[in-house]
Amino acid sequence: MRKSIVVANWKMHGSTDHIKSYVSDLHTKYDSDVITDVDLVFCPPTAYLQSLNLELASNEVSGANHCVLDNCKIGGQDLSHYVSDGAYTGEVSGRMLSDLGCQYVIIGHSERRQYFGENDNLVAEKFIAAIKSGLTPIFCVGENKAERERGETLSVVKRQLQEVLDLACGDDLLNSVIAYEPIWAIGTGLTATPEQASQVHRYIRDLLPNKGISIPVIYGGSVKPENAKELFSEVDIDGALVGGASLNAGSFLSIAASI
Ligand code: 13P
Repeated sequence: MRKSIVVANWKMHGSTDHIKSYVSDLHTKYDSDVITDVDLVFCPPTAYLQSLNLELASNEVSGANHCVLDNCKIGGQDLSHYVSDGAYTGEVSGRMLSDLGCQYVIIGHSERRQYFGENDNLVAEKFIAAIKSGLTPIFCVGENKAERERGETLSVVKRQLQEVLDLACGDDLLNSVIAYEPIWAIGTGLTATPEQASQVHRYIRDLLPNKGISIPVIYGGSVKPENAKELFSEVDIDGALVGGASLNAGSFLSIAASI
């Protein structure tokens, strides 16, 4: 059976105060009877990974109305393709993310591709660097509006996955998550319909070794409490990569509870 997973991508948002109130909200609003068998992964900016991790841990033991956030994990939003330490100013390696307590890392987000010039080859190298560091890569693919309108969605997704499929060996892929995030749905309020998303998820699964039988394929793009249930009702949608709505603990939990 595939794991369900809901990922909070805070992008470049957050502060020490936000983390304190966010984790406090998580503890009061988290209902372990409703959220079962779902991994919740929080990906704050790198600068806040440690304080979020400490806050999650310290609240776990602090008070009668606080429930244990067993299935809460942390992840990075990006990592260096360099695996070994070295003179690479500004870079953060997979080993460092692991050292900070991360189990996951987002790779190849469309914002990294668009604003930081990351191409298919670089993101494939990052995928391998994540695996070598013992992290589970959450590998993002997705087409832009013009590509969808030209009917190129599936070929774009295939091209984005191909370098990873070429570089990785089968076992590497087994410990990964694929996120389908159509760029036209990110931060726009436009969501792919469950049928549109499902068609691409099925296609991705077919490209993966062993038909991706054990690899979660999650959807991202304007996921909100209002549309999550409908998306998750599709058998090929194993969870969500959430941007804007993940900045509010209550909204994020309500998305996770919809699985
Ligand atoms: P939104 O949920 O804000 O559309 O962002 C999606 C996303 O890019 C998550 O990685």
